[in-house]
This record gives sequence, structure tokens and C-alpha cells, in this order.
Amino acid sequence: MWDSNGVEVLSSANRDIEFLALTSNDEFVLKRSLNSGNGTEKPILIQLDEPYEKFKSTSTLTLVDREGSNYVIEKTNIEMLIVATGKKKVYSISNGKLPLISMVGQRLQFTVLKPDGKPLDPVSYVAKRVKEEAIKLHLDVDIVKGLTEKNEPIIEQNIKLHDCACGRDITLDDLKALAVGSTKHLSKFIAPINDSFKIYKIDKCIQKAYFISQTFLETGEYKYLEERVSAEYEKNNYGGYKGRGLIQLTWKDNYIAYGKFKGEDFTGVNRVKISSPKYAVDSAAWFWRKGKARDLNELALKNDLIGVSAIINGGFNHFDNDNHGGRENRKAYLLRAFKILKVGNCKIIDQSLLSSLDDFKLENSIVNDMVGEVFGWGLWHDPEYKKIGCTKSLSEARKGYARFIELSKNQKFKPPKRYGYTQERAEVLARRKLSG
Ligand SMILES: [Zn+2]
Repeated sequence: MWDSNGVEVLSSANRDIEFLALTSNDEFVLKRSLNSGNGTEKPILIQLDEPYEKFKSTSTLTLVDREGSNYVIEKTNIEMLIVATGKKKVYSISNGKLPLISMVGQRLQFTVLKPDGKPLDPVSYVAKRVKEEAIKLHLDVDIVKGLTEKNEPIIEQNIKLHDCACGRDITLDDLKALAVGSTKHLSKFIAPINDSFKIYKIDKCIQKAYFISQTFLETGEYKYLEERVSAEYEKNNYGGYKGRGLIQLTWKDNYIAYGKFKGEDFTGVNRVKISSPKYAVDSAAWFWRKGKARDLNELALKNDLIGVSAIINGGFNHFDNDNHGGRENRKAYLLRAFKILKVGNCKIIDQSLLSSLDDFKLENSIVNDMVGEVFGWGLWHDPEYKKIGCTKSLSEARKGYARFIELSKNQKFKPPKRYGYTQERAEVLARRKLSG
């Protein structure tokens, strides 16, 4: 307790009076003590020769994370320890800032408590007479980058209480663990992936798992950053703009739309830039969020593998079956990515998903309401249909055909022919399969 003009010093058991001096380092040091031999617990008042106000320091503590971003989390408890007395006080703050009045030279120690009550490493603080604008406490905390900026929604559980990939960057080891083939070329993708994940907010572990597994499948594990056709073929078949990037950006319109978003030119000779690792990843992340009517990030968050696959592929090629030992299809890549990124431990995503992360049902997918794709689900599963990509199953095929007949009453194919079938012929096929 501070008097307007004095400093209260609690004497220790064998000191009656302490003479404190304020050093040039703004610390009080014990210069001399009188010892009566008996000691006393009674506080002794020491008069200051200057008004107390001059020794008072007003500051604002700002919590920042390991990377210097403001750390704004609802109800963060901070324990303040006055080192000299051992007194502790707990403050609860919600805006990442703590107004602080302390005594010049007073040693304080702040400990941020995680939501589970466990303390982070304490941070020491001594108030100086030189006015400091704001004091930043750098905390040993991982937070999901970009989500704690001004005007962004506050998320509550972004402290790393768990070990999924929500709060961390993708590493080379992650990609190596996911790969079936050679991994020598993968290191140059790490920086672009983590940069793009921040720009496009592909930041939940499950979204990262979806993006990487689908793009791995599309590009032979990042070996092929552009469609393997000749310049002449490109000119004659794609108007000069063949597929480039991890999710192949194709046709001039799309190159222009992406360039408009980036504020860069990807037309003419510049179109080949999309085949460099940086833009191959970035254009795919752009497509992921903005390239189609559906935001693939949202479908990933619902664990809708059927929907994500159908939108990227147009059908169900390489869905859950392949000719390479079963490890190189969309489902196999995804389930491995789930393990590598520890999605099963996630505390942020919808917790009801966690018990059935490997269970993908047509009726739970967006595809169940898409007339063309639901017909595709029938075709790809149909044991009589030769296309490779889905494990053949007459019951799954019938599920798709039945739903197609239902939707076909009110929805039209876009474009008018899907997988080689007009809607009329598709209906004939579906009815025959359902009656057989
Ligand atoms: Zn997670």
C-alpha cells in the first residue's frame, strides 16, 4: 500500500529498517539495513524526498505472440507477481491490453495462464522513469496467424493446447510423410504453401489436409505443375491457355480473373509464371476459395470429400480407388494427411466430425443436391461402367441413380451433356439400373 508521500517497506525477520536507493538503472537496491537483532514484522514507513507521483509509472502492457502479433483472446488471465513482496494478483483481460500503474524500479513478473489454467513462461518487468509508450510482453504462444488482427473475429481456442496443424505451419516432413514417390523436389513448396494458407485463410488443420491431399493427387505429388501437352496443342485446344498450377487454371478468362485478384498480369508470355512453385500454389489456393461457386474451404470444414472431389475433378476420378496399390487416390491421401496433421486431435473444428473422419456418405454431401454429379456418383460406382476411380458397388450406384431421378424433376444438366449422357439418356439408364 502506498501513501501519497511514502513508501511502505515490509521489514524482514532480521531487519528493522531498510534504506533503499533508486539506482541509475531505475531499480531499488537495498543500501543499508539496521538490525536490532530481534526483527519485527511491523511495516515501517520511509519518507520519500520527492512526491510519490514522480515515482509512479503508467504503462500499458500489450500481449503479443511469438511472432509479434497482438494476442487478443477473450478472458485471458494474467497473474502479476510483485517480486519484492511475493504478492500475487490475477487480472482477466479480453482485449490483449492491461493498463498498469506501478512504482519506478518495482520488479514485477507476469504470467499468462492458458484456458486450462496452465501457466506460460513468466515475463519480468521493471518500470523505468523514462516514459515508455507501451510495453510489449512477448509470450511464448502459438496462435493462428491472421485471426487476431483488428476487426477480425476473435477465436477462443487458438492457444496451442493440442497438437493438430491448426496452429502451425506445414513442414517438409509433413509432405514427405504424405508422399508415395520421390520427395527431393518438395522443399521448394513449403514457403509458398504456408504463405498462401495465410493469404487465403486455409488455416484449420482439416482445410490444410484437404488442400494438400487434393493438390498432391492432381499433380503427381507436385511433380507436374502444368498440363503435359505441346504448345501447339495448347494453342489449338485451350486458346493458348492450358492447365497450369496445382489445381489447373485453364482458359484465358480464368488467367485474367486470377491476375485481376493478384493485381498482376498472367496473360501472353506471363502465363508461364503460373507453372512456378509460388504461383502454382497461390493460384490453386485462389481457386480453392474463389474459383468456383462453392468455397472449397467450407466443404473441407464439413469433411465433404465427395463434394470437394466432384468440384475439383468434375467427376470422381481417383476418388477412392486407383491402379497404384491403393495409396494414390483422393481418399487415401486425405486419410494419411489427417493422420500427419493430427486432425483427429483438433479442438477447433466441429467435434461431431471427429468420430467418423473416414466416413463419407453421399447423403451428407453437397453432391446429393447436384443433379449432374449425383448421376456421376451412380456411373462411377456402377460395376458396368468402365471408368476408374470409385470402388465398384451396385448399391452405391443405385443410391446415386435414385437421387438423380428425384432431382431430375427440377434440375437440368449444366452443360447439357454430362459424362457423355444427355439428361434424357441418363434417366433411361438410371431407371433401368434401379429396376434391374
Ligand atoms: Zn485443428
